[in-house]
Amino acid sequence: MQATHEVFNQPEPLVDYNLFDTNHGLRDALKFNAPQLATAELSALGASLGSAEMQTHARLANTHTPQLHSHDRFGRRVDQVEFHPSYHVLMDAATRAGLHGTPWGSPHPNPLPKGEGTNSPVLLPLPPGEGRGEGSPHVERAAGFMLFTELEPSILCPISMTYAVTPALRSNAAIHADWAPRLTSRAYDPALKLFSEKTGVTMGMGMTEKQGGSDVRANTTQAVPDGSDAWGPRFRLTGHKWFFSAPMCDAFLVLAQAPAGLSCFFIPRVLPGNSLNAIRIQRLKDKLGNKANASSEVEFDSATAWLVGEEGRGVPQILEMGTMTRLDCALGTSGLMRQALSIALNHCAQREAFGRPLIDQPLMRNVLADLALESEAATALSIRLARAFDHNTDAHEQAMARLLTPVAKFWICKRGSHFAQEAMECLGGNGYVEEGGEGIMARIYREMPLNSIWEGAGNIMALDLLRALRKADAAAALAQELAPAKGAHPALDRLAAALPTRVEEMATEMEARRLAQDVALAVQAALLYQSAPAAVFEAFCDSRLGGDWGQAFGTLGADVDFDALITRAMPR
Ligand SMILES: Cc1cc2nc3c(=O)[nH]c(=O)nc-3n(C[C@H](O)[C@H](O)[C@H](O)COP(=O)(O)OP(=O)(O)OC[C@H]3O[C@@H](n4cnc5c(N)ncnc54)[C@H](O)[C@@H]3O)c2cc1C
Repeated sequence: MQATHEVFNQPEPLVDYNLFDTNHGLRDALKFNAPQLATAELSALGASLGSAEMQTHARLANTHTPQLHSHDRFGRRVDQVEFHPSYHVLMDAATRAGLHGTPWGSPHPNPLPKGEGTNSPVLLPLPPGEGRGEGSPHVERAAGFMLFTELEPSILCPISMTYAVTPALRSNAAIHADWAPRLTSRAYDPALKLFSEKTGVTMGMGMTEKQGGSDVRANTTQAVPDGSDAWGPRFRLTGHKWFFSAPMCDAFLVLAQAPAGLSCFFIPRVLPGNSLNAIRIQRLKDKLGNKANASSEVEFDSATAWLVGEEGRGVPQILEMGTMTRLDCALGTSGLMRQALSIALNHCAQREAFGRPLIDQPLMRNVLADLALESEAATALSIRLARAFDHNTDAHEQAMARLLTPVAKFWICKRGSHFAQEAMECLGGNGYVEEGGEGIMARIYREMPLNSIWEGAGNIMALDLLRALRKADAAAALAQELAPAKGAHPALDRLAAALPTRVEEMATEMEARRLAQDVALAVQAALLYQSAPAAVFEAFCDSRLGGDWGQAFGTLGADVDFDALITRAMPR
């Protein structure tokens, strides 16, 4: 066959670049929130995650989706999920990078023997003398989590839950003592075996039932007392969970109705004594996105579980885990935004239309600069929130963790889908196609709504902010947070002056979203003033706070320093 035409004006894909070194917004956020942090390990991670090889694993793990084997060929129940080998490579890489638990564990990689099949190149040895960021393990881990999300977000579901479980699990000291070394080990060990025979373990959580997810008080799963042993009061659980992501985890925290009320339980897949617990995986969810992650429906058939925390206090107990996964929703969306922006910039720098590269067309410059602003503001707020968890004995940081968790989860995740749609449109028709490197954009678009829905959907986050305002001395804490930017921009000054009164007067439920949005914008602006170049801060305040903006991306005022914003955001 003869060639009918020559292919030209199609961009080279964005591969083999360093996700960390090229992310100035993230690096400046780290300098501000964790100035002592040594970033050599993050840079090595960024290089690995930007490689063509890892991008191929991400594509394969999403194309060859998990398969449920409920029974073996002889009809015996096995309740196993089978994954493509690339899924395991990604899980191994995330575990080796410590994204599942480093802040809670030993600063030294691999405290336990290395797991089988751990051949990922991700974790490079640190140069001599380069310690992990003293006092900033959550910030460092947050940056790594953001970078990994750029490569592949769905495998991070069990990674995030494993990271998140420790504060809640500590309430059962015996279980925590047994499981903690493996929860923080850098060995990925996917085998279905007794925890003590494994080099590393993962954990998930189960709250949502068919009749209610936000309102978990409606849970019907029953917990019947069954004696006591070295792990404390033991119960038998009968019922179901309608969403149970990552059912191949080694154990879960779940809610069930005990005699004293809704309680939090630890439920392992393999029981001490080596028998399988009665957790039946009914089916896997057929989802819009998040394809590499096995989300399932399960039933408990008199499954064995142990109480965590006080009986009847299950909701606050499991929400200690939920708080950390909400942080990850904000981080994950910020990572997805950054990747979508990078792909859009890469495309527009190479694609020509009407006689010049798209990136030189004035209106496209407005779209790209506007997206860059949103991405940088999301990064700044997410990393700042992570800092609050590094200093949880400080009263101001405690207040910020409580206030900014629902604020960041609400606002950043709300912006995500809109952002992905606009970044996709920068690629024209290629953006909508699943195939090849540009297909990452379609994957990002399908992933975006999820971070807004799970771990507490938008309204639930806004209502949680109202609850937070009732408890902490919120107005003073917020004023303290905004104080360093006082006088920097008239629009920020106006908002900062109005917020404490709105906070003190307590917004009604009807106003909760508006308040969450305004707190987010004010804190983002104050952070950008302290950590980003003046052009970024000015453009953010003029548009988001000053009203010089439309209702779609690409509506910044004409006097914005577009060159500065676009050059700063370029991924190469
Ligand atoms: C892919 C995926 C994986 C998941 N994995 C897990 C998992 O591993 N474990 C787990 O426990 N759950 C999981 N979930 C469930 C998820 O957390 C819930 O779907 C979510 O919390 C919402 O609960 P719901 O679906 O019951 O919706 P509902 O509670 O019915 O809420 C529906 C809507 O009503 C709004 N709403 C609720 N109450 C109010 C109110 N008082 N005022 C105003 N608006 C309100 C909500 O914001 C939401 O927009 C997963 C979900 C998905 C999509």
